[in-house]
Amino acid sequence: MDEVDFYLEDLKSKFRKLKNVGGYDKYYLSYSGGKDSHFLYWFIKEYSYPEFKDIKIVGINTYMEHHEIRDRIMKNSDIVLFPTMKPMEIKEKYGIPCFSKEQDFYIYYYQNALRKGKQPSRTIQEKIDGTYKKGFSGISKKAREYVKSGNAHKITHLCCHYLKKEPARKFEKESGLKPILGIRGGESNLRKRQYRTCFTKDKKFTPIHDLSDDLLDKIIKKYNIEVPKVYEHIERTGCMGCPYGSYKHDTEKELELINDNQRKFVSEYFKESYEVLGIEVKE
Ligand code: SF4
Repeated sequence: MDEVDFYLEDLKSKFRKLKNVGGYDKYYLSYSGGKDSHFLYWFIKEYSYPEFKDIKIVGINTYMEHHEIRDRIMKNSDIVLFPTMKPMEIKEKYGIPCFSKEQDFYIYYYQNALRKGKQPSRTIQEKIDGTYKKGFSGISKKAREYVKSGNAHKITHLCCHYLKKEPARKFEKESGLKPILGIRGGESNLRKRQYRTCFTKDKKFTPIHDLSDDLLDKIIKKYNIEVPKVYEHIERTGCMGCPYGSYKHDTEKELELINDNQRKFVSEYFKESYEVLGIEVKE
């Protein structure tokens, strides 16, 4: 047995653990149409035991996906959820993503306190000042200078919350189901810290938290699992033009892959963040 099949056998035994936490029918696959959740889709539908096939596939149409990804969501999901807020409404009310999810979290609460004429909490202030001592010190020098200049636009981590997390949370409340998440710890330091075992405290199932890029690629190659063409150009994709891909220049590459209307929309939505990050939108 090679490392690919060894991993897949191990994954089967991880899935079997669902029996001890209520059964397979108490879980659904949170399907984004991307590489990781599609690997789990393939594992559930084609590779694994027949009893896993009853696990519901639930996608979210965030209005921000590449068309190819959105088509996969529509084709493979049993249920498609929609966010209650549209991106521009989120921008208006809370702001837009800019530096990284974790940095934007601190910046949002910092700006929010100042807007209300309040003093930010001590932790938030230390994160912004870069004086926080325990663990991740805070935000980058560039972010700090920009935010403290007093001219920063409204920045938030809440875009993901309203476009992705909130519809899922609502669905879970109504259905009583818990998610199977295709989250891998290698994707960011935040995720590495958050996902260390197969189950989170609230029993969300994260069976591939320890799967490396290299092994995932080997599995995909060996079993010829379909990968959207967009991955030929970028390593990861969440939403079209999301600035969170900018540190690897994925945002610029994504902007070249989308059509004029989509480019116009994302340039408008992420305008101020693109300006700060120096992301150029070519016509
Ligand atoms: S990945 Fe980016 S654009 Fe998509 S929901 Fe999250 S913050 Fe918003």
